[in-house]
Formats: sequence, C-alpha cells, structure tokens
Amino acid sequence: MILFQFLKYFILYGASKVEVTLYKEEKQEEAAKVTVVRKMKVFVLFVAIAVAAWQCQGDDHGVNFQVFPLRMKSGLGGHYIPEISCQSWMLGVEAHNIIGFSSVPKDCVGYIGNYLVGDQYRSDSKTVCREAYFYVKTLNISSKDAWVFDIDETTLCNLPYYADHGFGAEPYNSTAFDEWVFRGVAPPLPESLKLYRKLVSLGIKIVFITGRPLSQLDVTASNLKKAGYYKWDKLITKDPSYNGKTAVTYKSNERRKIEEQGYNIIGNIGDQWSDILGTNVGGRTFKLPDPMYYIS
Ligand SMILES: [Mg+2]
Repeated sequence: MILFQFLKYFILYGASKVEVTLYKEEKQEEAAKVTVVRKMKVFVLFVAIAVAAWQCQGDDHGVNFQVFPLRMKSGLGGHYIPEISCQSWMLGVEAHNIIGFSSVPKDCVGYIGNYLVGDQYRSDSKTVCREAYFYVKTLNISSKDAWVFDIDETTLCNLPYYADHGFGAEPYNSTAFDEWVFRGVAPPLPESLKLYRKLVSLGIKIVFITGRPLSQLDVTASNLKKAGYYKWDKLITKDPSYNGKTAVTYKSNERRKIEEQGYNIIGNIGDQWSDILGTNVGGRTFKLPDPMYYIS
C-alpha cells in the first residue's frame, strides 16, 4: 500500500514537471514571434519613409527623377521657396531671355540687393574680366587695336544710387538719376578697373561709348579720372540725333565710325546686351552682370 502511494506521487510529480517545461517553451516561442513581428514593422516603416523621401524630391518643380544623389537646392524635400524663382529670373535677364522689363520684380528686391552688395556680384564680374584678359593675351597687339567700354555698371558703379532706389525695383526716375550723375562720385567697378589697367599696359587704345548725353560729358570725364580711368582715346556720349533710337543702333553706328577711323576693335564689354549686339561689335564681346535694369 505504501509502495502504491509512493508510485502515485512519483508519477504525478513527473507529470507536473513536464507541464511546467512545456509551458516555459511555449512562452519563449511567443516572445520570439513578437520580437520578429516588431522588427518587421520597423523595417517596413523605414522602407516607407525612404520611398516617400525619394518621391517628394523636386515634386514642386515638376522634377521626379534623380540625376545625382544630392537633394535639390531648395526647401526641405524640394519644396518651393521664393528666392529660387528670383535666381531664375536673374538668370533669364543675364541670358537675354527676359527682355524689356521696366523694373525688378518686387519680391526679388532682397535677393537682387543681396547679390549686388554681397560677394557674388564681384565674383561674377571678376570671372568676366578675367576671361576678357585671357582672350587679349592670345592676341598680337598692334597700335590701332582698341577696346570698347560702356560706362554705367561697366566702368562706373551706380550702386550707391540704386541702393536708395530699390535696386531697380522703383521705376526709373531720370531727374533723380541725373542728379546722382552730376555729383560725379560714382566709384569704379573694381574688376573692370583692373582689366582697364591691364589693357592700357598692353598698349591697347581705350574707347568709352556711353548712353549718357553730351551735357554729362565733362562730369563723366571727371568722374572717370577720379575713379582711376586716367586715359582714353575716345569718350563718346549720345548725340541728340539718336533720341528715339535704340542703344543697339547708336552704339553700332559709333563703333562703325571708330573702325572707319582706322581702329581695330578687338573687344567690347558692357552690362547690357545692347552694348554688345549689332554691328562692329569687335573680336569678342563680354557681358557683365546687371539685374537692375534693361536698355534696348
Ligand atoms: Mg551700362
């Protein structure tokens, strides 16, 4: 009887141990399943975020392909920001795609102002003037070789005036601008002055052709000398007979006269396309930046 009781307890005890072990194994399997499911959720979330980030690049600009693994130079995720359109506007002006504008868009006053008073304007002007000099260095200079310079925003800088008039956002006011011109205090554009000095040192003749009228000849000559342009062969102001005609017509005609006098125009630099289009433009032309105004 005692033996029977002992066997009974022994069997019951063994069965309970087996149950506990099975229960622990089940719990461990469940925990492992939960961990795998959590890892899969994290992975799917990561893939979804990556796909969304890739798809939103440039969507606001209509660009939905990636040509290089860099983010667009606009807002986060390629979102539109206003200054990008001002940069496009300025590029359009410099490339002569945007023409005939009477003033800078109001939204772009800050962008254009920062460009002009910051380093970029100087840097862009330097690039143009350096290329002009590299070109000249390839030539065999003769005594009748001449270089044509425009004046406003090419040799003389009117930024002190335009900074007070919205950097071109205000409509052109001839009375106010003439008052500024007659002060005769416009500073030089530094990179243009460097180019001028190099050209003079190479024996190249300097010709200034400006849209300023004859009445401003003396003050312009004085201002040029004050700014460091100490010599030239010709300083041509706009004769009243050209009133109502385009700058392209006026400047082409004056360049033709220069060449008829025996000069060989090897180069021509200006801030307006009308300085460098037309006839007798010279061996090469160079366009300086000017997002403030347009002269046809
Ligand atoms: Mg000019």
